[in-house]
Amino acid sequence: MTERVVLHGIGVSAGTASGPVAVVTPAVGIDQYEPASADPEADGQRVRDVLGEVASSLSNRAEHANSKASKDVLLATANLATDRGLIRGVDKELKKGAGVTKAVHDAVELYAGKLRKLGGYMAERVTDLYDIRDRATARLRNLPEPGVPALDEPSILVAHDLAPAETATLDPEMVLGIVTEAGGATSHTAILAAQLGIPAAVQVKGVSNAIVDEPRLAIDGSTGQVIVAPTDEDVADLDERSRRRAAALEGSAGAGQTRDGYGVKLLANIGTADDAVKAAGHDLEGSGLFRSEFLFLDRDSAPGLEEQTETYTKALQAFGDRRVVVRTLDAGADKPLSFADLGEEENPALGRRGLRLSQAREDLLDTQLQALANAAANVPEAELWVMAPMVATVEEAQWFAERARAAGLKQVGIMVETPAAAIRATHLLEQVDFASIGTNDLSQYTMAADRMEGELAALLSPWQPAVLAMIRETCRGGKTTNKPIGVCGEAGGDPAAALVLVGLGVKSLSMAPGKVNAVRAALALHDLETCQKMAEEALDARTAAEAREAVLALADPVLKDLL
Ligand code: PEP
Ligand code: MG
Repeated sequence: MTERVVLHGIGVSAGTASGPVAVVTPAVGIDQYEPASADPEADGQRVRDVLGEVASSLSNRAEHANSKASKDVLLATANLATDRGLIRGVDKELKKGAGVTKAVHDAVELYAGKLRKLGGYMAERVTDLYDIRDRATARLRNLPEPGVPALDEPSILVAHDLAPAETATLDPEMVLGIVTEAGGATSHTAILAAQLGIPAAVQVKGVSNAIVDEPRLAIDGSTGQVIVAPTDEDVADLDERSRRRAAALEGSAGAGQTRDGYGVKLLANIGTADDAVKAAGHDLEGSGLFRSEFLFLDRDSAPGLEEQTETYTKALQAFGDRRVVVRTLDAGADKPLSFADLGEEENPALGRRGLRLSQAREDLLDTQLQALANAAANVPEAELWVMAPMVATVEEAQWFAERARAAGLKQVGIMVETPAAAIRATHLLEQVDFASIGTNDLSQYTMAADRMEGELAALLSPWQPAVLAMIRETCRGGKTTNKPIGVCGEAGGDPAAALVLVGLGVKSLSMAPGKVNAVRAALALHDLETCQKMAEEALDARTAAEAREAVLALADPVLKDLL
């Protein structure tokens, strides 16, 4: 009999559920017995045909998808299946002598490596790529495609990773929950699960090993907790949690403010113009971070003035008169640009990335600034703010501000992502109109801990008192110069951390759109004075864990229902 086990992953789609397990059919791998390619050209054509079939079957499923988001994901995956770079990679492997399935696997792996290096949104596409690989491999081996089994009763799906193509066509009536061992918080699977309203948890390590003889499972998609073989008490407890979260979120609407009416703008992080359109449909006050480098990353050449103008115009139009903060291109390090390669670096995260790359490639920055100015002119009601990433010195802030203003941009700011910028915030802010704290990089550089290294997660916590001290210094700079400070790193989307940030003096919080409701509800439960007291106690704490505990001790008990 399966024993009761409590596992913890990352909750990506709120809600609770319990029910029988359905395990998703794993993919078949490379055919170990296949011969080396004797005719690379003919084999290349065969792979092309198969990838074409995969693409059309995905497009076909897109036609029947139950939402626009599902449809978009399926079409994006279908497009990736016929990506020229991928097919060229397969040709190369075949010429080297690999058999067809090995050629597909090796080419996909190389391509996936490139996407991973790009980080963020591009790295999340790796799951889509593996989905294509597995579908193509099954077809090349004349085996059935891997995927979700036919369900005859409502069940909780367990998979190593669930492909977007599978998630998109799930029937929410039959799928009670989704648990995956891999996957990221911003993967397509997570986005789609939330869209379908199916509770989901990713990164639940060990779940496959824990389900021995088809036990029942219980899941809390907010906390990421998964219970294998839950007791009746566990199930009742989860139901109660769900009810309490819904009650805590009820009525969360409108402009962000503390209980005593102190306004804090709640904004969305976006990466594309399409994201802007989607986010603008949420109850939020604009975008606090448009990661514009997503327009550049998968390109062989920089998008021109016209294309960029069009993209920014679309984003501004989507938000109307709501604020949109565009970050100028933040390339280098984990997001290298093929057309602006400044050569190998020993330590890319400490190298010529962000604004430093823009200084080496002024042409790229100037085109972008001009496109932004054009977009602002196209949408007169827009409130466009523009900021530079990875700023460390007054000279850099001044250099950027002069260029942006020369292009005609009105609200010009910097991101605070380095300890240097945080400690000298007053001096840097004298050059610009605002600052936005990137807590992801600020944590990385303050704690000297690579943000890509999962094993260092504890060091990267925004609750680290050293990171909080950096934020305090930045806010002091904001107060002295009377310039607004926002936060656009992940910390802004944590309802408890958000209270501390507000207590420290942060005026806006930007996050994944789906997190706004909980943060808004958390703010509404507390007055500004309490947030300030929380900030003081968190700063006085000796450790990250003590900082968080101190804040929760001061919080309204309902806050726990929102975490
Ligand atoms: C950050 O560093 O916190 C940030 C918002 O920028 P990115 O995550 O894109 O590096
Ligand atoms: Mg950053």
